[in-house]
Amino acid sequence: MILNADIVRRFDKWLVVICLLMLVFFAYVMHINMATGHSQPYLSEVKYANSQLESFSISRLDDSLDVPWITVANPINLGIQQGQHWIYFHLPEGSDTDDPSLLEVAYPLLDQVTAYFFTDHQALPIHIAVSGDSTVFHNREIQLPSIVFPIPSVQSDIYVILKVVTSGPVKIPLKVWKTSEFVAYSAELNLTIGCFYGFLLAICLSTFFLFLTTRRSVFVFYSAYVFCLLVTLVTLAGLLHAYIGIEKLGFEQHVIAVWANAAVFFVILFTRLLFNLKHEYKKLDGYLKAAALVCIGSMIISMFLPHHILMGAFLFLLSSVVLTTFTVICWLALKGITIARYYCLAWSFLLVSAIIAILDYFGVITTSIPIHYLLMVGATMETLLLTYVVAIGYSQHREQLYASNQKALVQERAVLSAQEDLMTMQQQYQDELEYKVQERTLELEIALRELSEANQELERLNSIDSLTGIRNRRYFDKRLLAEGRRSRREKSALSLAMLDIDHFKQINDRYGHSAGDACICHVATLLQQVLKRSCDDVCRYGGEEFGVILPNTDLEGARTVIETMRQKVENTPVIVDGEGIQMTLSAGVSSVVVTAQDQETILFKHADSLLYRAKQSGRNKVVAEHYTGIAS
Ligand code: GH3
Ligand code: MG
Ligand code: MG
Repeated sequence: MILNADIVRRFDKWLVVICLLMLVFFAYVMHINMATGHSQPYLSEVKYANSQLESFSISRLDDSLDVPWITVANPINLGIQQGQHWIYFHLPEGSDTDDPSLLEVAYPLLDQVTAYFFTDHQALPIHIAVSGDSTVFHNREIQLPSIVFPIPSVQSDIYVILKVVTSGPVKIPLKVWKTSEFVAYSAELNLTIGCFYGFLLAICLSTFFLFLTTRRSVFVFYSAYVFCLLVTLVTLAGLLHAYIGIEKLGFEQHVIAVWANAAVFFVILFTRLLFNLKHEYKKLDGYLKAAALVCIGSMIISMFLPHHILMGAFLFLLSSVVLTTFTVICWLALKGITIARYYCLAWSFLLVSAIIAILDYFGVITTSIPIHYLLMVGATMETLLLTYVVAIGYSQHREQLYASNQKALVQERAVLSAQEDLMTMQQQYQDELEYKVQERTLELEIALRELSEANQELERLNSIDSLTGIRNRRYFDKRLLAEGRRSRREKSALSLAMLDIDHFKQINDRYGHSAGDACICHVATLLQQVLKRSCDDVCRYGGEEFGVILPNTDLEGARTVIETMRQKVENTPVIVDGEGIQMTLSAGVSSVVVTAQDQETILFKHADSLLYRAKQSGRNKVVAEHYTGIAS
């Protein structure tokens, strides 16, 4: 994860402010811790003897005079040493019954501390008190996480002998307080320490809630890390024993090892995710995975190893894991990854305080303040900086997300615009196609219309008699069929006449065929002239025979029309080659309201038979008769 410099700069000034505030706060805490009240709380002269003196008895104060005491500096810090440890010191007279004094052994992890109080008048102890984390907390005379004994109020000097048994480091910081001062000091210290724990708890919870809302594992690992760190610190301060009640001998030491290992384990997981090592630095990721496995191993053995071995193994494993992780991150920081620099700085705080704590633990150095305070300060600074790193990481993640969303949006817009272009093109293409289809359709329609007109013309020509120019027999047949149907449909009378020129053969024979043709044309013209209604039609049926269709005309009307024709032909001779030729014609007229199919055909036969009758009865006659369905 390579941070955008702008993001870092944006956070930087706030970080400086927060760090300064924290440092002021720490300085205040240190000040409280070092508080001396009206008198120096640390005892000035303390004598020590170790456990070689198994026969040592404290039943009488006199006995203690034989012990080879050596004067030591307070606070006593001997590192890890097995056996019993004896401390002897003298408190001059000066007790105040209104404000009795208290003796504090300011290292809560000692397993058992027994205090024997003597006066110079009596050989036997006037009071014996027991405390320590292997004893039942509620049996303590003063129930505080720290080991505190009330000093009996007597009008004489007091001699105190302490017996200390512990499997952990022999660290015995002795302080004598006036009760009122101790209460004031405790209240102030508890408040500040409560602030530290509250700070860590708040970070732990807020990052956990961040995990719940964002589902990013980096938050849950960080939250788990802070939680483990908090429990480690709480245990170191003796609070776990005080408020949870672990009285098993030395168990707290195991608990500390387990929780400290868990904290390092989670911080490794957190680091891997934070720097995206899995994808970007596979080799480094391998180292950290190995370190995480070592942590799990260390956690398991922490529960079983005896204390003096445990602490050595635990601290060795812990420091190797921490150093591995620290080296990895330093390497990333050197590569120019800004976030790694902050990370290193954060770890430096914890590392420095942890190194001091370890040195103090083994008695190499002796700090004037309890190591759990020191670790607490280091852990808080580290947590603060890491929270800052997490915040930057989250901010960057959001910005990356926003940027990628924007990119996706731009891409989506491009896709949409391309789709629109495509649709426009498709529309254009479709329009062009439709236009072409319309054009082609129009052309086809025109062609069809032309064809239809040509057909109609052909039809018309087909229905025209070439000699006379009137309709021919083909047309006559079709028309008769159509009018037959209409008569049947409209129940109207249909009249049909068949006409034949009388003795035409003779005309042909006398004047020749071309004169005969002229005669036929002349008769046709005359017949046409007689017809007035547009629906009436005269057709040349064949030779010198004509058929006249008179729709919607009764027999009498038809007879009149045909009679008119007969008269007109009779009275209008044709002039051929300067010679007038007079003609007559005979006609059969039949009429019917068609009621059955093919009745028009029978009507035609009937008219033809009437024509025959007209011929037989002397020619130049019109014979008209209703068709009754009975053959005549
Ligand atoms: P009728 O009074 O009994 O009808 O005597 P007709 O001589 O008219 O007898 P018919 O109807 O049998 O004779 C028709 C004649 O008309 C036969 C043929 O020579 C003549 N004819 C038929 N078609 C044509 C034609 O198109 N042109 C000419 N010039 N003569 C035709
Ligand atoms: Mg004839
Ligand atoms: Mg004839």
